[in-house]
Amino acid sequence: MCGVFGVRAPGRDVARLSYFGLYALQHRGQESAGIAVSEHGRLTALRDLGLVPQVFDERSLSGLRGELAIGHTRYSTTGGNAWANAQPLLHHGRTRTVALGHNGNLVNAADLRAEVGKPLASSSDSEVIAALVADDDRPLEEAVPAAMARLEGAASVVGLADGRLFAFRDAYGFRPLVLGRLGADPVVASESCALDLVGAEFDREIRPGELVLADEDGVHSVQALEPAERGALCIFEFFYLARPDTRLSGVEVHGARVRMGERLAAEAPAEADLVLPIPDSGTPAAIGFARASGIPFSEGLIKNRYVGRTFIQPEQGMREQGIRMKFNPLAEVSGQRVVVVDDSIVRGSTTRQIVSMLFDAGAAEVHVRISSPPVVSPCFYGIDLAAEEEMIAARASVEEVRAAIGATSLAYISLEGLQAATRRPASALCRACLTREYPTRVPADAAKLRFEPARA
Ligand code: SF4
Repeated sequence: MCGVFGVRAPGRDVARLSYFGLYALQHRGQESAGIAVSEHGRLTALRDLGLVPQVFDERSLSGLRGELAIGHTRYSTTGGNAWANAQPLLHHGRTRTVALGHNGNLVNAADLRAEVGKPLASSSDSEVIAALVADDDRPLEEAVPAAMARLEGAASVVGLADGRLFAFRDAYGFRPLVLGRLGADPVVASESCALDLVGAEFDREIRPGELVLADEDGVHSVQALEPAERGALCIFEFFYLARPDTRLSGVEVHGARVRMGERLAAEAPAEADLVLPIPDSGTPAAIGFARASGIPFSEGLIKNRYVGRTFIQPEQGMREQGIRMKFNPLAEVSGQRVVVVDDSIVRGSTTRQIVSMLFDAGAAEVHVRISSPPVVSPCFYGIDLAAEEEMIAARASVEEVRAAIGATSLAYISLEGLQAATRRPASALCRACLTREYPTRVPADAAKLRFEPARA
């Protein structure tokens, strides 16, 4: 999970535009943030661990001048949470220097690292993409497609090199990437909500396999790779990751999530007095469940919004601690039969703690409804779900999961129900963590820290 942003806008403050673009993409990664600018071909990057407003201030932004900029918010999927893995990364190659931000995860990163044949500064899989472009002695419009052809897996990428902005998507289109315009100036972003925030008009989605280059001659689009026979936009973006005000393939995410809740109410009704969301990602589905079931919607659980998302903090210790800091039930749940709606259950620890918190607050019954099917298999394409052995549903029945989380009842939306709510055909989406049917080959060793130096 990462957010990427890019802009070419001579005469505008491109670093500030990127800063605001990244602010809109903060939900996609909270471990590190960075911006790189190109001024007459000279690249400067500033990146650090932390949230966007922790990394940048007025002074640092005013030092980033140029006509082009890219930005990145990171949540680690390959490579640990370390400064060297913060992006945009700068790679000085034989032919050129490349600044690059990557959302997604490559499945052939190990092969490519071996092929690049030199030590890399980071342990992420993203630097190999930069190295392939930086070492290629052909013009940029040939070097980038050549690099794209070597990548397997998920890559929505923004980059700067040779005084040009480039942006591309892998042939499956796992991760979103959109193109917009600020006046006549091109803007690219992971999600359309970032275009809205900087005042840019949505133009279109960048197509799977498409390369967009922006320079003083305008915006050039090349279908660098044949799109894969089937699309594979991540279905997790629809029910969890993307911001509700984002449009994915023309579908507003909030509306899709409300439909998931309506469908869930039809598939798995509950006799109850209140419908509560697990804020914020469960909220639209809870609205849909309440609307379709006629059971009143209640905030029920108050969230401290200044605590980062529990899902996004990788260490188990932090996650356990995070839940207590994050939610507090209202007195109105006391004596009530409540339906709790959330978007997914991965490990089950968060749901178990919330159920127990609601019973402690006096709830008479706690019915858990989930707007995704059971998550049973890992993601190799950029969402750090968990290893299969940590996934509670990987080897347990729904009844066993219910017992483990301590709920009165538990039901998940069906895969067909989820699919219908997205209004996208199955052939357009990746659903591998729900079905174990991966659209690409998957790596034998997909451990997140596989490129870290061994510790003594
Ligand atoms: S495996 Fe799951 S999380 Fe990963 S890209 Fe596919 S649908 Fe998304």
